[in-house]
Amino acid sequence: MARVNNWQIQREMAYWYPEKRPRRQFAAVFDINKCIGCQTCTLACKTTWTSGKGQEYMLWNNVESKPYGFYPLAWDLKLLQMMGTQRWVGNRYVGQTIFEAAPTATRVMGWQPQERDYAYPNVGEDDCAGMVDRGLGLHVPHMAWFFYLARICNHCTFPACLAACPRGSIYKRQEDGIVLIDQSRCHGYQECVRACPYKKTFFNPLGGTSEKCIGCYPKLEQGLQPQCFLNCIGKIRLAGWINPPSQADHENPIDFLVHIKKVAKPLFPQFGLEPNVYYIPPVHVPINFLRQMFGPGVEDALKTYAQAHEDPDLQALLCLLGCTERIVARWRRRGKTVVGASEQGQEIVRVPIKEPVYIRPAFDEKYGIARVNCP
Ligand code: SF4
Ligand code: SF4
Repeated sequence: MARVNNWQIQREMAYWYPEKRPRRQFAAVFDINKCIGCQTCTLACKTTWTSGKGQEYMLWNNVESKPYGFYPLAWDLKLLQMMGTQRWVGNRYVGQTIFEAAPTATRVMGWQPQERDYAYPNVGEDDCAGMVDRGLGLHVPHMAWFFYLARICNHCTFPACLAACPRGSIYKRQEDGIVLIDQSRCHGYQECVRACPYKKTFFNPLGGTSEKCIGCYPKLEQGLQPQCFLNCIGKIRLAGWINPPSQADHENPIDFLVHIKKVAKPLFPQFGLEPNVYYIPPVHVPINFLRQMFGPGVEDALKTYAQAHEDPDLQALLCLLGCTERIVARWRRRGKTVVGASEQGQEIVRVPIKEPVYIRPAFDEKYGIARVNCP
C-alpha cells in the first residue's frame, strides 16, 4: 500500500496506488435544501445511458429520501456498521478508512449487494424520521424530518472501485478526473461493485461486465454540464473543477463553496475516497445525523448557509446554480448581478441576485375579479 494525502480527513492514509492527481478534477456542488425529489435527474440519466438490456435496474443517478431511503438497500448503513466507531478529533479523522480497515487479502472493506437489495429503487420515499404515528407531529417543535439525497458517482480522487479491480480495468482520466471502466478489459469479477462504498458501479448480467456513471464526459469535453445537472428542476446542481485546498481560487465557484466558504461538504469523508460531489447540508435535520454523513465541519457549513443573506458574495454565487447548460469555471459579482464565465473568462451567463417581485392587487380593476390567493 502507498501513502497518500487525503485533505478531507486531514491526514495521510493508505491506498493501493501512489497518489497521482489528474491535471484537473471534475467536481460538483448539490444544494440539498433545494431538491424536491422529482427524479427528473434520474430519468434524464436513465434515458440517456442505461435504457439497454441488462441495465434495467441500473440507476447511475438516484435520489433517495433519508433517513429511510436507499439504493441499493441499506448501502450506507451496512458499511457504517462494518466500520464500527468512526472517530474524529477536530477536523482530523483518526478512525480507519475502508482501505485501512480492509480484511487480510482484500484491498477494500466492502460488501456485495444481492439482487433483492436492488428490488426497490425508491424504498423509503418520503418516510420521515420520528414517531409521527405516535403523535409526535402534533407537538411543536417536532422532530419529524426527511430530506432528498441525490447521488451520482463521486469520481473520487482515491476510487475504491479502481483500487479493487484485479484486472486494472478502471482508470481515472488525466484530463478531467472522470473514473471509467474499460469494457474491453473488464471480466465481470464485480470486485468494483463490492468495493465502491457508494454502490455506484453496477454489474450487467447480460453484457457480463460492470458499468458506471461516466460523468457525461462527451458533454464535459464540450464545456457542457452532465445530463442530470442540465435537467435538474430544483436547480440544486453546479458542475465544475476543484483545486486542492492549498490552491483554492476565489474566482472558481466550486473552490469558493468548498474551500473558501466551506459551505459544501463531501459525503461520508471517513470512507477515505476524497469524493468530488459536495453537498450543502439540509438545515432542518438533527446535527448528529449530519455529522456522521458529512463530517465535523457540517455545523459551520449550516451557520454560513443560514447567514448567506448577509454575505453578498455567497448569496450571489448561489444564484448561479442551474442557470446555464455551460460549465461555469469562473464567476464574479457585478453590482446587483452575478456573472458566470468560461475558463477563458468569457461571459456565459448573467443573472440578477434578487429577482423583482410583483404583488398583484387583491381586486383586479381591469377584469373586475377578486383574487382569492392575495392578502
Ligand atoms: S463513487 Fe464508487 S464508482 Fe464512483 S469513483 Fe468512487 S468508488 Fe468508483
Ligand atoms: S432533478 Fe434536481 S430537484 Fe429533481 S430530484 Fe433530481 S436533484 Fe432533486
